[in-house]
Amino acid sequence: MDFKTLPHPSPTPAAQRDAALADPGFGTLFSDHMVTIDYVEGKGWHNAVVGPRQNISLDPAASVLHYAQEIFEGMKAYKHADGSAALFRPEENARRFNASADRMAMPHVPEDLFIEAVRQLVAIDKDWFPSVEGGSLYLRPFMFASEAFLGVRPAKEYKFIVIASPAGNYFKSGVPAVKIWVAQDYVRAAPGGTGAAKTGGNYAASLVPQAEAIAQGCDQVVFLDAVERKWIEELGGMNLFFVMEDGSVITPPLTGTILPGITRNSLIQLLREEGLTVREEPYSIDQWRDDAKSGKLLETMACGTAAVVTPVGTVAGGDGEFTIGSGGPGQITSKIREKLVGIQRGTVDDTHGWVMKL
Ligand code: PMP
Repeated sequence: MDFKTLPHPSPTPAAQRDAALADPGFGTLFSDHMVTIDYVEGKGWHNAVVGPRQNISLDPAASVLHYAQEIFEGMKAYKHADGSAALFRPEENARRFNASADRMAMPHVPEDLFIEAVRQLVAIDKDWFPSVEGGSLYLRPFMFASEAFLGVRPAKEYKFIVIASPAGNYFKSGVPAVKIWVAQDYVRAAPGGTGAAKTGGNYAASLVPQAEAIAQGCDQVVFLDAVERKWIEELGGMNLFFVMEDGSVITPPLTGTILPGITRNSLIQLLREEGLTVREEPYSIDQWRDDAKSGKLLETMACGTAAVVTPVGTVAGGDGEFTIGSGGPGQITSKIREKLVGIQRGTVDDTHGWVMKL
């Protein structure tokens, strides 16, 4: 598909942009452009435009506003030392996007169109990479139902949009261990629900338990399964790994209630290459506590695009608090984090073909 390019008529002045890029934070600074592509049933995807980032106009009856037919992705572009921009496994984001689309009764965006849209945006906004060490250009492709229709059925019109947000180093100084709150009264996803889809409603539902975690002095909430309320699932936006004393690593299996993280998939491969045995199997909250107390569990790490790999130091809620290892970053967590960050940033050999240079 041909993209029509409409450069911004009054782009952000370079001095203002560069000042913002020195300390971009997360999620509040945006680049000058966006990509939009329209979909109409019977006609398919059309009208691909790389244009100025601007407000979008919606009919008040647009079905996304009523029934939340919406999906999104989160990925990063990195600036390598040779000046080139690179994406990390973007085809996996495209694939997961379409898996989310299937669950939400939405049309697929062809994988090559998805990647081309991202590529076009990074190209036109190439001056929007943060100058701060550890920074990246966070990319947010999303799709929503734009048809004006109040019946409950899949819409016949959609918009696919990609925006870009320069992001600083998630943790400014080092990688602190996080404190996790175990949700007691809330679940994130049930069997047969939408837990494996990256759809807005899952995140709306996580806000109250996340606020509860903050009120309890924790950083993040961990969700348990909806049926037995004992199996560990994931955090609001990260998957979990448990490093055992015997050289094995456990991560909850993809049974449809957790998001299949691309970082999770990459870590499984990297940990195996380190000689560790990775088992995708259920792990209970009671076992987690017992293993942390007995010393059988050495480390717990959370992983996702935003913070890459983060050590979990303390767990609170329900039956009191427990600490994992020394409560700080463990050896395996630090080693695997360094390796993955190195691959993404082009300082470690990409032997897996995970990096796509733009
Ligand atoms: N779980 C949830 C609920 C998430 O939102 C994310 C972030 N996309 C992840 C896990 C981690 O996925 P990824 O490694 O692909 O960023």
